Amino acid sequence: MTTTEQQTRAAQPADAPRVYGHHIGGRELQPAEDLIHRRAPGTGEVVASWSAGTAADTEMAIAAARAAFDAGTWSGLPGVERGRILLRVAELMRADADRLARIEADESGKPLVLAAGDVAGSIDLFEYAAAVTMTSTGEAHTNLGEDFTAWVVREPAGVVAMIIPWNFPLLLLAQKLPFALGAGCTAVVKPSEFTSGTALELMRILREAGVPDGVVNVVTGTGPATGQILAESQDVDLLSFTGSTATGQAITAASAGSIKRLSLELGGKAASIVFADADLDDALDGVLFGVFFNQGECCVSGARLLVQESIADDFVAKLVSATQRIVVGAPLTPGSELGAMISPEHLQTVLGHIQRAEEQGARVVAGGHRLTTGELAAGDFVAPTIIDGVAPDHAAFREEIFGPVLTVTRFRDLPEAVDLANATPYGLAGSVWTKDIDKALDTARQVRVGRMWINTTIDGAPSLPAGGMKQSGYGREMGRAGFDEFTEIKTVQVRT
Ligand code: NAD
Repeated sequence: MTTTEQQTRAAQPADAPRVYGHHIGGRELQPAEDLIHRRAPGTGEVVASWSAGTAADTEMAIAAARAAFDAGTWSGLPGVERGRILLRVAELMRADADRLARIEADESGKPLVLAAGDVAGSIDLFEYAAAVTMTSTGEAHTNLGEDFTAWVVREPAGVVAMIIPWNFPLLLLAQKLPFALGAGCTAVVKPSEFTSGTALELMRILREAGVPDGVVNVVTGTGPATGQILAESQDVDLLSFTGSTATGQAITAASAGSIKRLSLELGGKAASIVFADADLDDALDGVLFGVFFNQGECCVSGARLLVQESIADDFVAKLVSATQRIVVGAPLTPGSELGAMISPEHLQTVLGHIQRAEEQGARVVAGGHRLTTGELAAGDFVAPTIIDGVAPDHAAFREEIFGPVLTVTRFRDLPEAVDLANATPYGLAGSVWTKDIDKALDTARQVRVGRMWINTTIDGAPSLPAGGMKQSGYGREMGRAGFDEFTEIKTVQVRT
């Protein structure tokens, strides 16, 4: 793409349908004849189209990333220089933040205000990763004996494939890409086939910021047609994946022959544990935010409420009335708090989970159905839902619903709360609500998850690592640990 074409694209209003080709080797290819057309989940209108990538496209992108890595130009830059370029990316993203947010809202169905928050968070991640890049060092071991010295150095992991889901398209890419670039890696990015726009827009920004050709490549398309090739490839050194546990299993199997390193950020089924001695107003707000944030399409969503018996009836009644006041609306409708499901198929999956919970004996006490009045008729909206009386052997307790659905289960005491919190195959996150700090820390220690919040939820900072245990995966993103994930350790020893 020429500079003039780039400027023309940048100047287009976000509401003109956008058409993209892959970005490989520093240029945007012509859009393929076979295109994926993206309908906005909030309105049903086509907002963008991108190439339906093939194995050959993916291999071309891998070859470009491999050549850029092997040339050593990017990894050979001083960390300060790579960090400076990442800061420039952040600056350009900030200048384009409104447009990026609009694209994100259009393609994902989330309210614009949430999309704007995701863009701001992504910028923070680029800035933080720049700081880590500039200050990262190795270790010198000088106490091994007078003629023996060693250095433990961190080298870039090599060519990194990044496979991204649709729920936070830019933010989840920003949890990986700047850290990998900071470490000196090159990349092939495979965004979700539902939400590829912001990854493709970011390419224009990376080029303008001075990231050399071929260092980052984006190939669009479905998982089996493109992602699978990345998993199988001998030329990809590390695959960093965020998505469902089922896809994580498929990727693990497909990557076995190449012995590549994997980082897997998979599904979750977080519990919000509310003790009777909590600040109940804070807990109420926290539980609602935890489950309905991003329409419940959030890996760390507090999808299960575990509430102490003595306060349960009253607490649930208050939750129900607060839930009925939540404003569901199209992403661009002012005041909209809860947006559309990502696709008509996902809408049906969520409704199916609710129906199954009822069949298994639980009670829907709020929502439970599709919303079709007024503007909502054009999109895929589910009423925020609460299901009470959910038992640990119910599917709704164990399986990820990934929609605006809260299940309620009562507990007697701390040991039972911990057992219930741990009674799923997942181990991603959880929250505990109590004024008793000993009880809070005891609970946090015993719940097997990668991230535990006390009297807060879905909270974080770029310096705090995130990741899972059990079937929520392994590897950490963000923080120093998230930077180290994209490095290999080399020990260099010398005897004199
Ligand atoms: P998904 O697993 O269906 O898809 C994720 C990505 O994998 C997409 O880009 C898709 O095209 C690709 N893919 C699909 N099949 C593939 C294959 N066989 N080989 C390679 N790639 C393939 O997930 P989704 O529906 O996009 O996202 C929702 C899921 O992601 C939920 O389970 C959620 O919990 C999880 N998630 C986890 C985190 C985390 O940090 N742990 C964050 C966000 C979302």
